[in-house]
This record gives sequence, C-alpha cells and structure tokens, in this order.
Amino acid sequence: MTAVAALPRPYQNYVYAYPHKTSYRPLSPRPALAQLWRDEARHALSLYLHIPFCEVRCGFCNLFTRVGAPDGLTGRYLDALERQAHAVREALGERPEPSFATAAFGGGTPTYLEARELERLCDIAEQVMGADLRAIPLSVEASPATATADRLAVLAARGTTRLSLGVQSFVDAEARAAVRPQRRADVEAALGCVRAAGIPVLNIDLIYGIDGQTESSWRLSLDAALQWQPEEIYLYPLYVRPLTGLGRHVDPAVSERDWDAQRLNRYREGRDHLLAHGYRQVSMRMFRRVDAPPQGPDDYACQTDGMIGLGCGARSYTSTLHYSFDYAVSSREVRSIIDTYTATTDFTRALVGRAVDDGEARRRHLLQSLLQVDGLAVADYELRFGRDPRADFAAELGLLAERGWLDDTADRLRLTPNGLAYSDAIGPEFFSPAVRSAMADYELR
Ligand code: SF4
Repeated sequence: MTAVAALPRPYQNYVYAYPHKTSYRPLSPRPALAQLWRDEARHALSLYLHIPFCEVRCGFCNLFTRVGAPDGLTGRYLDALERQAHAVREALGERPEPSFATAAFGGGTPTYLEARELERLCDIAEQVMGADLRAIPLSVEASPATATADRLAVLAARGTTRLSLGVQSFVDAEARAAVRPQRRADVEAALGCVRAAGIPVLNIDLIYGIDGQTESSWRLSLDAALQWQPEEIYLYPLYVRPLTGLGRHVDPAVSERDWDAQRLNRYREGRDHLLAHGYRQVSMRMFRRVDAPPQGPDDYACQTDGMIGLGCGARSYTSTLHYSFDYAVSSREVRSIIDTYTATTDFTRALVGRAVDDGEARRRHLLQSLLQVDGLAVADYELRFGRDPRADFAAELGLLAERGWLDDTADRLRLTPNGLAYSDAIGPEFFSPAVRSAMADYELR
C-alpha cells in the first residue's frame, strides 16, 4: 500500500483570478486596445470599476488601495476614469456594439466616494461605456462607515442589485485585532441602512482566524450576521501577508500549524452553522441563502466572456491577454501609481499583463470550476477545448484523488467537503510552472 504524503498547508493562495496579478509583467510593445479587442466576443462583457480609496487600511488587506484622498484626489481620479472610459469605449468600436451583462464597483471602497461622486461613477458606466445598469446585475462593495443613507439611495436608484458589506467581525475587540477598528453599533446601523435602501441582495463578509477569536465569539459573529438574513455570506480565512498591517501573525504563542488547525476548525464550524440555517455552500468562501433571488453569474462562473476593468487597480481580460496597470501593496508605491494614473491622458494601450494561451485558459477554466461546490462539468470542458480534463490534469487530479479530495463521477469532477476546505492549497497546485515562476520572481513593493 502506498503511503499518502503529508497534506499541504491549507492556507496558501486565494485563487480569485488566474493568472494572479503578480505574474503580470510590463508589455513590450504595448498593444493598442483597439487591436486587442478587434476580434473578441463583446455580447456579454463584464464591466468593473475600481475605486482605490479606503478610510482605513485593514491589517489583513493587500488589495490595491490607499487611505484617504487628499486635495480633491477623488475628483481627479474620476476625471481620469472618465478619460479611460472614453478611450476604451472607442477601442471597442461599434460593430458589433459592445453589450454588458454584469457590472461591479469594487476597491478599495467604492462608497468612499460621496453620493454625488457615485452618481458620476454610474454616469461613466452608463453614458460613456453604454452599460444599462438598471437592466443588469450591479454589485457594489462598501464598508460600514461609508454605507450611509445618501450613498445607498444613489446606488439603489441607479440599479444596484447587490451590496457587499465588509463587516469581518461583530466583536469590537476582534475588529481592532484585525486592524479594522469599528464598533458593532455602527455596523448594525450600516446594515439597517442597506436593508432600508431596498437593495435586493445583501452580502456580509466575515473573517475567521483573528487573534483572540474563539469558537463562541465566532458563533456570535455568525449569529449576528444571520439576524439580518443576508442573501449571501462570505467566510474568509484571515491571511497575514507581507507589507500589510498585520505583517506577521500577532500571537507568537500560537504556531503556524496551530493557527492552520484553528482556521480549519472555524471554517467547519462556520460552514456547518450556515448550512443548518438555510444557506447552501457555493464555494469554500461563499454561502447563499437557499431562497435568495437569482443573481446572474457567480463570481467564478464566467469562463469565457471578456472583462473590461476601469481604474488603476482593475484587470481586463480578453481571450488571449489579461492586462492591468502596475500593482503594489505598500502605501508609498500605491500612491505613486494612483498619481501616475490621474495624470494619464493616453489610455489607448495595455501596459502590464500576461498572455493567456490555450494551456493557461484550460488551467483557468479548471480552477474556476473545480473550486466551486458544483465542480467541473466534463462536457463543458470537452466542448470548449476538445480535450479530456482527466488527461490534461492527470497528475494533479491523481493527487487529489489520493488524498480523498476528489469526487469523480462520469460527468463531473467535484471536490469533496474536505477538498473544499483545502481550496487555497489545491488552487496553487494547478498553476502552470511559468505562472508559478513569474509569481515567485515578483518583487513585492
Ligand atoms: S479590506 Fe476593504 S476596506 Fe479594508 S483596506 Fe482592504 S479594500 Fe479597504
């Protein structure tokens, strides 16, 4: 009997996009957008507008964002966003006219913008890009401090269908420990405002693995979230990443392995609690109320359609190139990239990116399906690529099967519940050697 190798560590990399931005490199020559999009399907594009401002920098966050926006920076940023939108819309051309199937405002904290600035953001999406925000799903991220009635009224009136609130914890001491200081009373008030605004889908983000969090305090946050009957709840494991406020795990008495075990326990407790309270699991992180209204494509579901990202932290995807602007985490570098963006007048070319060939497209398709509870429909993969996924990924899938993490039926490849708990270890095992090596060579700044 062959011994099964030791399990990998469970929290390695959250694969929300493949290839990761740290594998992007400056493009030379810089391709013209008109050229890149000339032969692309444009009947069901996604539109993403990125607002890189927050009122605080949460200790766990490595997203592209800065604290505050002094001296009219939000206005200059929106000016640049509008210039970029005109350039991109022109590059997309008229024949056939591009059509957007989904839209999202992310960040950062889009609601860092004031109500009148959010109106302008919606105007850019509608009037410049041509997205009909009232006719398609529109998702917006917000923080409790910025989810104010006037902003939410604008967002609701302009067609927001989903509001995602980054609560993280309902325990004030845990919020402080995660360097996301906030009072529960303010969080509850913000949730009341979201419900009063009548936006159909409320998502609440919670984090487990915070220093000092226990089974009972975790349960308290879960129950506090459930009081609002949100249509969606995301449960995120805490990550401590380089150059972020937490910098390293804060309790030296807890070894990394113990912390892994704690997070796995909290994950299982959270999952079981939500399953017992009328939610179904969509992925390791995502849970949806069973009677929630349908929401259009899930975050991972869109396998083939293009994405138009506007703003200096946004990615755009054609079928052969993923591209963006420069990326950084440290506040000095982020500020400098935002300043460069706001001064930019020529948005007609892609600057930084990574080519996605057929092999990478197959990896992406597999990853984005396998990490969902529903798994990979073998026939969809075969139809798209004319190949058998079991042959393409024999070694990786073999390893999953050996660990008891793969449920391989005739028509689907699915992770078992234990496999799903290890999603953040499984994802990186499917990265190509080239992407792996580019990510390893990336110099974080
Ligand atoms: S987690 Fe959200 S609110 Fe906190 S710093 Fe990151 S983007 Fe801003």
